[in-house]
Amino acid sequence: MCLFCKIVNKEIPANVVLENENFLAFHDINPKAPVHILAIPKLHVDSFNEVTGETMAGMTEFIQGLVKEIKIDASGYRVICNVGEDGGQEVKHLHCHILGGAKLKWEHF
Ligand code: ADP
Repeated sequence: MCLFCKIVNKEIPANVVLENENFLAFHDINPKAPVHILAIPKLHVDSFNEVTGETMAGMTEFIQGLVKEIKIDASGYRVICNVGEDGGQEVKHLHCHILGGAKLKWEHF
């Protein structure tokens, strides 16, 4: 079972921020911004390459609720899905990084 499936199954602890029937959000263990939360579908999907539009529609509404709840919706934030090797995806269970709490920089390669 993958790392994030173990978090869903509560075999590995996580600092949960928000949860509903289909999605889970928890603090990233190695935060790269003052706010760094990961949002995942509870059902395993490898990456953005495989996810259905229906799941991403649910994820969108889940993240919209999350950012309102933690009050970063007005100040702004970033939602990122890393995909595959070039995208730097380490954990092969689709996750959206939600980064905020500061004016973010934008640097790549
Ligand atoms: P990267 O590690 O390059 O950011 P990913 O996009 O696959 O690659 O992101 C995986 C994220 O999961 C990382 O930000 C990492 O800090 C986080 N992470 C790994 N293990 C845990 C854990 N047990 N609890 C919370 N976050 C975790």
